[in-house]
Amino acid sequence: MPSEASLSVPMAASTVLDGKAIAERIKKAISRELSKTASRPTLAILSFQNPASEAYRRAQERQAQSLMIGVTGEHLPGTATQETAEHVIQRWNRDQHIHGIFVHQPMPPQIDPQRISGAIDPRKDVEGIHPQNSARRFFARARIGSCTALAVMELIDATGMDLAGKEAVVIGHSDIVGRPVSMLLLDTLATTTVCHVGTDKAGRLEDHVRRADILVVAVGKPRFIKGAWIKPGAIVIDVGINMVGGRVVGDVEFEAAKERAAFITPVPGGVGPVTVMMVMKNTVEAFKLQQGRGSS
Ligand code: NAP
Repeated sequence: MPSEASLSVPMAASTVLDGKAIAERIKKAISRELSKTASRPTLAILSFQNPASEAYRRAQERQAQSLMIGVTGEHLPGTATQETAEHVIQRWNRDQHIHGIFVHQPMPPQIDPQRISGAIDPRKDVEGIHPQNSARRFFARARIGSCTALAVMELIDATGMDLAGKEAVVIGHSDIVGRPVSMLLLDTLATTTVCHVGTDKAGRLEDHVRRADILVVAVGKPRFIKGAWIKPGAIVIDVGINMVGGRVVGDVEFEAAKERAAFITPVPGGVGPVTVMMVMKNTVEAFKLQQGRGSS
């Protein structure tokens, strides 16, 4: 527990982590990697009717085109069946000109996300959701992992903080964000706690947030985490994307949290642009694996 004295030390102004600048830096590295080969990878994107994934898909297409990564896709209606979605994936699995497959979430209720994850060729799985890739992540051997989780780690890395022994708290335990982030945080030797609905029901969320040196929030509820709960000097990574009155806001009360955090991500402009760039990076990794460059 920090002493009262350490809590009362006045905080320096917090640094807002610029996701767009970090994404640009990663983009330059991807460009350099691609310049080593004459051929280019192609990414295939499967999305379902949903305004949130529409903006994300457009951003993926824009970045792929600007990196001269091929991009194709299917945009299915919200009523699409499991069989239709799996048929699209199987076609892409067989197509040697497609190197990466990305499926947007959330999927409509009639679609079983686990069956979709299992249908993707693991070598083309640029979100790291196939069970083989999830298992590799569990054993800290993943070459390609959840794009959002990797983006969170890039943003934390940009702070320069050594995480070993620090208290990391992840709010949310979804398959594509909370769980993979917590695994990656474990790899840094941060003492990692995962909170979820049960923590909230028990009235313990605030306690956990108050002791977090690193806080990652991926719940999908606008301004759910109160600024007053943030530990002074913490790193706050807000993954949430919520529409409120026509504006995009995160899961954390940004202005109040900024008063206490040492580093904080804005929404928009924080995790989002870095996640899109990690999709590109993973597409290039998948391409290299399929070309036999590097081990899986
Ligand atoms: P999700 O699958 O809906 O998961 C939300 C998680 O929050 C679940 O684990 C849920 O726990 C937990 N939760 C719900 N209510 C809670 C409460 N009252 N207290 C504590 N935990 C609670 O969502 P997701 O895919 O992880 O995404 C989370 C947010 O991040 C969304 O806003 C999404 O749009 C955004 N997102 C952003 C990016 C990006 O690049 N910026 C990428 C992906 C997602 P239970 O399962 O126990 O209910």
